[in-house]
Amino acid sequence: MRERFTGRVVLITGGAGGIGRALARAFAREGATVVLAGRDESALTEAVKEIRAEGGHADHVVADLTVPGDAAAMVAAVTGRHGGLHVAVNNAGILGATGPVTDVDDDDWRAVIDVNLTGVFLSMKHEIAHMRAHGGGAIVNVSSNIGVHGRLPGMAAYAASKAGVSVLTRTAAIDHIGEGVRINAVSPGASDTPMSLRPGESRADRDERLRAAIPAGRPSDPSEVAGAVVWLASDESAYLVGHDMVVDGGTTA
Ligand code: NAP
Repeated sequence: MRERFTGRVVLITGGAGGIGRALARAFAREGATVVLAGRDESALTEAVKEIRAEGGHADHVVADLTVPGDAAAMVAAVTGRHGGLHVAVNNAGILGATGPVTDVDDDDWRAVIDVNLTGVFLSMKHEIAHMRAHGGGAIVNVSSNIGVHGRLPGMAAYAASKAGVSVLTRTAAIDHIGEGVRINAVSPGASDTPMSLRPGESRADRDERLRAAIPAGRPSDPSEVAGAVVWLASDESAYLVGHDMVVDGGTTA
């Protein structure tokens, strides 16, 4: 097995969720010490237990990225406990309420922008501040193929927030590559996590709904998103800066 991240500390926001957990397991399998962040401490503890049972090094930090000060405290906790931060994956996100623009509740709009866009901005701000003062690092933001790449009806807040993440990634990338911080994004399409299920929908019904919409004929397994993120965070992609890699089975190709 390759161990591209031995001796490196990797922070994953939303680390107990569907894609986040696959990310954490993938980095841990490559030798990283992974730190999972999120709001739900019991889910984080369970995910950490799973990774340790597989022989990985894992820890968690409770952080709500919509609470002022939590992003800074999250980064301080990681660097304080583990002596550094080499890779950060800003993956936390919510779908939020869906519906046509006129029906979007103001608070629902703000909630989606707060987590998906401002949460990534605040996380990056503190991650970059640490990394540039300590020899550099790599950041991968998890955006979506709904945003700059494609749109779906009824998803204005989500699409706007993720388009923001894609553009913020490119801007931050050129701001900070000269300081040794390399920033890229991954934009997944539908992936096999609860986020891709409509309320009350079974996985089989979702797969049937998506079969015709995705040229590959199926949603991704979260490990397939993780594979792209791990590569973008690795030294193998050292010359990729501000890239936004679409991982969507051809949906927006
Ligand atoms: P998920 O299972 O719902 O995971 C989302 C994670 O975000 C959870 O671990 C959640 O943890 C965390 N989170 C939510 N609000 C937070 C907050 N205020 N502060 C800190 N953490 C918060 O969803 P997923 O499918 O794995 O999605 C992961 C990322 O991929 C998201 O950014 C999503 O937009 C993107 N994506 C997903 C798909 C898909 O089809 N699944 C497609 C394209 C893009 P807590 O609840 O513990 O806080």
